[in-house]
Amino acid sequence: MAYLKRNVIELNAMVIRYLVLLFLLGATLNLAGQEKTALLCGRLITGLDEAPLRNQVILVEGENIVAVTGRGNLPEGYRIIDLSDYTVLPGLIDAHVHPLIYGDDYQTNHLKGSSAFNALRGLKTVQDWLQEGWTTLRVAGDADVHYAHLEIRDAINNGLFVGPRIFGAGHYLSVSGGGGDINYLSPEQKVIPDGLVVNGPDEVRKAIREEIKYGSDWIKLLVTGAFMSSGDNPQSVHFSDAELAAALDEAGLRGIPVMAHAHSTEGIKKAIRAGARSIEHGSFLDEECIDLFLEHGTYLIPTLAVGEYFVEEASQSQALSKAYELHRKYDASIKEMLAKAIARGVRVGVGSDNVGFPPNFAAREFGYLTELGMTPMQAIQAGTRVNAELLGQEAHIGTLKPGNYADIIATQGNPLEDISELTNVRFVMKGGQVVKPTTD
Ligand SMILES: [Zn+2]
Repeated sequence: MAYLKRNVIELNAMVIRYLVLLFLLGATLNLAGQEKTALLCGRLITGLDEAPLRNQVILVEGENIVAVTGRGNLPEGYRIIDLSDYTVLPGLIDAHVHPLIYGDDYQTNHLKGSSAFNALRGLKTVQDWLQEGWTTLRVAGDADVHYAHLEIRDAINNGLFVGPRIFGAGHYLSVSGGGGDINYLSPEQKVIPDGLVVNGPDEVRKAIREEIKYGSDWIKLLVTGAFMSSGDNPQSVHFSDAELAAALDEAGLRGIPVMAHAHSTEGIKKAIRAGARSIEHGSFLDEECIDLFLEHGTYLIPTLAVGEYFVEEASQSQALSKAYELHRKYDASIKEMLAKAIARGVRVGVGSDNVGFPPNFAAREFGYLTELGMTPMQAIQAGTRVNAELLGQEAHIGTLKPGNYADIIATQGNPLEDISELTNVRFVMKGGQVVKPTTD
């Protein structure tokens, strides 16, 4: 009996110890889940309102915004971040980037480092971009034989590293001799190009299945030739109608959207008619192209910053001489038609085509869009709300409203008066975590 009683006492003590442990663990988890932060906003651009708001406070719990309200409603128990001297706005979304591309001779650089090296280098790159205010990126295919940037995405999503939200395509699909092929080596050289080279509807379908298998949430097609790659012409259409139809059908079966790189007028029209969700670059627009954008609701990502990058940083580069010359030749006419597209209400998003720009260069895209007729508020929305809609993520990012992730940035001056303020972001929060505090 005594033996049994001792056992019962020991059992009770054990149960109590477990309960205390569970309580402590629960309290810790609860604390982490309920971390409460209040951001006091001097000027607030929500992405939803057409004018900035004053004297607002954003309440954040865990990863999410729970309220955007007047300062008089600030409840107890919140850690305060005082951004009273700043303009607060949604985290920026760059809808066209290549984090793994570096150096001017990008078409072979991917062969110099292993996929592991590319991933490490790319991780540093996207972390730098997060510091600049880009809390979300859409990768337009990238320069790795494997899928380094999608693994960067997965590592960030699993909490191994701090970095921006990443969506996008593993590779760019290109025909032989297209912008994703390497066109300046002898026929004996059997190297693996940065793009996936496909010819004929069957190869297109197989490549898309593999892209999706390894984690692409977009498919990127090089429908026409490109500016940056050697040996092809951006005025040429590369994909046949049958290949394009196969691509859109295959991606559509899986519910995966297609982004279509298209410079030539005919290529833009074919890609829109085939059902691409966005046209990348869209350099040689005509009025009928604009009609088609409006009719199909297709997004246009003009990527103006990369053209300026060619002028300012790459004018001495042999590898980029073709891009530089094309830019000089066509810049004015490209911008003239883009201004018309903006005026007519085409859904234009911010995409810099960042291929390893100098720090804070990509956000010049906002300024270039205002030069073509957008108001500063429209340009900000193009890089926040419109891009979130392009990504189908408008219920989570792109605006500052309850329920969205707390992806929040701040500038010292007013970007509605001087849009270049976005090239000097002073505070960054991603998913409720401060990744760049103010320094004053
Ligand atoms: Zn690109």
